[in-house]
Amino acid sequence: EGEIYSMYTVIQPDMGLESLIQFSGTRDNHVQWIQLLNALDHQPDLPGWPLITPIKVQMLKCQKCSLEFSSPINYRRHVRIHRRSWKVNKEFHNLRGLLAEFWDKCSLEERKQVISFDDVVLKRTPGSSIINALASMLTEPGIWAFPQVYMKAGSKLMDIIQSSIPITSIVSQDLFSILDDASEGTFLCGGAAEFVQNYIFDGEAANSLELKNLVASTCFLFELQLVKAWVADKDAEALRCEKLLVEEEEAARKRQAKLVEKRRQKKIRQKELKVKEQ
Ligand SMILES: [Zn+2]
Repeated sequence: EGEIYSMYTVIQPDMGLESLIQFSGTRDNHVQWIQLLNALDHQPDLPGWPLITPIKVQMLKCQKCSLEFSSPINYRRHVRIHRRSWKVNKEFHNLRGLLAEFWDKCSLEERKQVISFDDVVLKRTPGSSIINALASMLTEPGIWAFPQVYMKAGSKLMDIIQSSIPITSIVSQDLFSILDDASEGTFLCGGAAEFVQNYIFDGEAANSLELKNLVASTCFLFELQLVKAWVADKDAEALRCEKLLVEEEEAARKRQAKLVEKRRQKKIRQKELKVKEQ
């Protein structure tokens, strides 16, 4: 840890001793590490991330296209697209658009439902355990070992999940860009999360609670929840249409019955009239 502090001093020489001491008490303020991370954003000319991380996480490189991933889960999801059997599905491309449209029209309650991870389980690991693990990871200097974009996306995702930022203010474009970064470009890759989770979370390499995977797992959970809510909304919509149809049919039947009754009454009146005339 000492090494991290001294390197930080090199990068931020104008920072006072108080701030440094403040940073060493990370456990008291869990957002500090991530604040430090964000602060570096405004210093584009500084050598930056690689220099201030004494130990960098070993990246997984795709043999087919040389893309690199810090999370084994994201890596596994990516390599799937190189399989000969995998074809780009038109429906899959549409899914992103449909989900975006859905998110933007979601009510506050619906969005709250998406970010509620109490009932979701990822291969026997409760969603809440993953969220808690990520929350505590973000308070540790260990995050410096990971690529900045990946870790920041994890932090932003956590802000949304913990409602640190008003969830109503997040448009799909911003949300999806966070999910893209947190999944290292594998958001919705190879189909919706539900269909790929068995493959991705198979075996020891796919421990969702492993530090390397915490941001990826949280992102994956988010995707699961988002798709689930969208499907439920579609079902509800279909149900609404069906109900309308039934109501319409019922109304038509009633109109028809009224018409028949009217004719019957008319006939009766005509008969009565004829009888009178005779
Ligand atoms: Zn690749």
